[in-house]
Amino acid sequence: MMYYKHDGWIEFICGSMFSGKSEELIRRIKRANYAKQKVQVFKPVIDDRYSESAVVSHNGNQTEAEPVHNSYEILQKVLPDTNVVAIDEIQFFDHGIVQVCDELANKGIRVICAGLDLDFRGKPFGPSPLILAKAEFVTKLQAICVKCGGPASRTQRLIDGKPANYNDPVIKVGASESYEARCRHCHEIPG
Ligand code: ADP
Ligand code: ZN
Repeated sequence: MMYYKHDGWIEFICGSMFSGKSEELIRRIKRANYAKQKVQVFKPVIDDRYSESAVVSHNGNQTEAEPVHNSYEILQKVLPDTNVVAIDEIQFFDHGIVQVCDELANKGIRVICAGLDLDFRGKPFGPSPLILAKAEFVTKLQAICVKCGGPASRTQRLIDGKPANYNDPVIKVGASESYEARCRHCHEIPG
């Protein structure tokens, strides 16, 4: 990274599911720890797929995280001597997260965000497009398309093994739901 006269900026690690966002976030957090930086990690409470108080990657790496209910809670929880703030699953936050990241970066904090850029329909996800626009450094990761082996930029939603319709509810009671990585060409949204 270049020499900066002032500390404080926003990094955004984005891409589809399985693209390695959590791995990359954990890697950056570990390196900041080695550099004796004071790091705080946050994640929205909404995502309790694995564990509420950790960032966990699909290959089993993990690091501790503080669960928060909204973006404002991050501002309240950041301690005076913190140099690095990492925020996972940024797409699930309210739009206030954009101002929170800006405020922290303006104060001299290195803000590292990670999250989905697109939802299962292939549309920009929550505040992610705004963070993309604001960030100084953007890393777009791709997974491997499970259909063709090409680079996967999309997340395929499956309900009972079949591609989910555009208008399927976010929670479908009694149905088994799963996600896989696919490229633009193999991504299916019936209906
Ligand atoms: P993300 O946070 O973007 O969902 P993770 O960092 O949790 O990604 O997981 C990345 C890991 O997922 C890879 O290192 C690999 O072990 C595993 N993986 C499973 N399916 C795929 C796939 N289709 N393409 C790439 N990696 C995959
Ligand atoms: Zn494909």
